[in-house]
Amino acid sequence: MNQLDVTAIRKDFPLLKREVNGHPLVYLDNAATSQKPQVMIDRLRDFYTNENAKTEEGHSLSKRATEAFEEARSKVAKFINADEREIIFQRGATEGLNHLANVFARGVLREGDEILVSAMEHHSNIVPWQIACGESGARLRVAPINEAGELDLDGFESKLSERTKLVAVAHVSNVLGTINPLREVVSMAHERDIPVVVDGAQGIPHLPVDVRETGCDFYAVSSHKMGGPSSVGFLYGRAEWLERLPIIEGGSHMAEKVSFEEEPQVKSLPMKYEAGTPAFAEVIAYGVAVDYCSGLGMEGIAAYEADLLGYATERIKRIDRVRVIGAAREKASILSFVADGVEPKQIEKSLDKEGIAVRAGTMSAQPLMKLLGVKGVVRASFMFYNTREEADVLARGIEKCVGEAR
Ligand code: PMP
Repeated sequence: MNQLDVTAIRKDFPLLKREVNGHPLVYLDNAATSQKPQVMIDRLRDFYTNENAKTEEGHSLSKRATEAFEEARSKVAKFINADEREIIFQRGATEGLNHLANVFARGVLREGDEILVSAMEHHSNIVPWQIACGESGARLRVAPINEAGELDLDGFESKLSERTKLVAVAHVSNVLGTINPLREVVSMAHERDIPVVVDGAQGIPHLPVDVRETGCDFYAVSSHKMGGPSSVGFLYGRAEWLERLPIIEGGSHMAEKVSFEEEPQVKSLPMKYEAGTPAFAEVIAYGVAVDYCSGLGMEGIAAYEADLLGYATERIKRIDRVRVIGAAREKASILSFVADGVEPKQIEKSLDKEGIAVRAGTMSAQPLMKLLGVKGVVRASFMFYNTREEADVLARGIEKCVGEAR
């Protein structure tokens, strides 16, 4: 099953060689941000050292930077089986979702309309829609999840109505690890002509993404969770939608013709939605991170991580007083848990002393925490460079901490 040469892969990630608090680092906070391959770091440094110029028509350096920037867009488009015109570079998934929410608030939503989200969403896929609802008089509705932490598809379908103007769901839950059945969700929504936006922040680093195959209308991504730089990401939007939706931001790069006498004329896609100077150096380096992941192969990454998650889950489930949160049949890379009588923050602190980086808290998913009846969780999140040995170190760290708290 394991097609990946993880020993070799780990050598590509300089930070993994570090020690933290006198122990070899066991980095299991990948859902927050992943570590970076050297090739991506080198590309960023090279660009600033040898190639830096603003992406515009003009002198040679500028032209070359524009070419490299558009090459990165092509790589991203190919990675998710989209067209270049459908890739709008943004600062990350949150900005992409906010951008779309503003566009919908201005151009689509009216009093009495509804937006349907799921109960497992991250704040970034809740708050932008709450703001859009506040502005437009639309209402946010919530699709239920079952005991295992899976989307309840019957419940989901029952919440769709002629008033629903958009469905917003995560590809993968950042707490439960649940992989949502996007094709079913899209087909139920599309039967009623409702577009679907997918929060892909935790999906794209771990699973093959094919927007044509899933049929989703929008897909929001952060580069920093998949080996790329921070402050870059993109919003995929199906061209038919992007062509007809209004713009909400104006300025340089997006305008074709501007005068005081007439309405501004905007460029065609994707520039129409990219006002201002983009994060060109970071986008170019992001292209290299995409190449890196494509080179390993997303199918192989998904299979390796599924095996690792299964191993770690079995290991951690056996620990006395520890309860794994999220038992979906389809899960990716995320292992959240709570321990009787030990606060999540205490576990995080105790693991940190051993060089194990996990995260504890509400994970920007307070409504889900309320539903689960917990104040917070501890989350270990895996990447293709993590190993079974690291899962063992994690398990021993938890055993020690929970045992000492007796
Ligand atoms: N959605 C999900 C499911 C996430 O896990 C995250 C990051 N924690 C985001 C959205 C937001 O990503 P970013 O902060 O990079 O915009």
